[in-house]
Amino acid sequence: MDAAQDCIFCKIAAKRTQASIVYEDDLFVAIEDASPQAPVHILVIPKKHISEIKDITSGDEELIKKWFWVAVQVASERGLDKAGYRTVVNNGAGGGQTVGHIHIHLLSGRKFSWPPG
Ligand code: AMP
Ligand code: ZN
Repeated sequence: MDAAQDCIFCKIAAKRTQASIVYEDDLFVAIEDASPQAPVHILVIPKKHISEIKDITSGDEELIKKWFWVAVQVASERGLDKAGYRTVVNNGAGGGQTVGHIHIHLLSGRKFSWPPG
């Protein structure tokens, strides 16, 4: 079976599964995280199925640029610039990734520590 058929974020992008969508265009969807780790916790998801950032290819270069740009725009529209925010991309099981479709976590509304847990 095509990996995308069984992927929760592909299903959300295709409206085959419900999610709280806060931004959408032809290439991306941004949703509220179902298990928020901060007062603001948004996931910015390319509609194209890419499992991990190690799977990004040179043909994805424009998409990846826009991906980060969308995260910055969503943060700005949410009024997060002044307070600041954290962006996180977990990679592979060892990096804490639990959903195998790349996404930027956009987190804000509380103090973040460093080093991360
Ligand atoms: P990661 O662990 O970096 O792969 O992040 C996956 C994130 O997706 C977690 O923060 C989950 O809470 C979130 N998540 C998983 N399933 C859903 C869903 N159906 N709707 C919204 N967020 C989800
Ligand atoms: Zn997917």
